[in-house]
Amino acid sequence: MLVILKLFDIIALLNQATEQKKMTKQLIKVDCRKCDNTGFINAFNHVKRGICFQCSGHGFQMLKNKPRIQKRYRIGFLWADKDHCNYNNGEILMVWGAQGYASLPAANRKAEAAMRINGSIEYLVELVKEEI
Ligand SMILES: [Zn+2]
Repeated sequence: MLVILKLFDIIALLNQATEQKKMTKQLIKVDCRKCDNTGFINAFNHVKRGICFQCSGHGFQMLKNKPRIQKRYRIGFLWADKDHCNYNNGEILMVWGAQGYASLPAANRKAEAAMRINGSIEYLVELVKEEI
């Protein structure tokens, strides 16, 4: 009987520790990028009066985990030959690689490899998207 009571005590203590752990987990306030912190999206004014579904109209979100930052890079090339179809009046012509590249080294590798065969004389990698 004593053993069973001790077992119940241990279970109760474990449950209490789990609840305390849940309560101490901090929520992180993050600006809503979908609506630029306004809580509304004018383009969707005809749907629930444009309330932002991402943040429920609050303009911010409370997240359990730190938001993951996702960066995207695009690359561009400079063609010096005026007869080349991609000649852009001496300016770098930005091109998309599908959805862009997820890392700067990946974009640089792709640009260097492409430059060896596409006839360009210079390349540029730029950050175009940084979202959570
Ligand atoms: Zn929003």
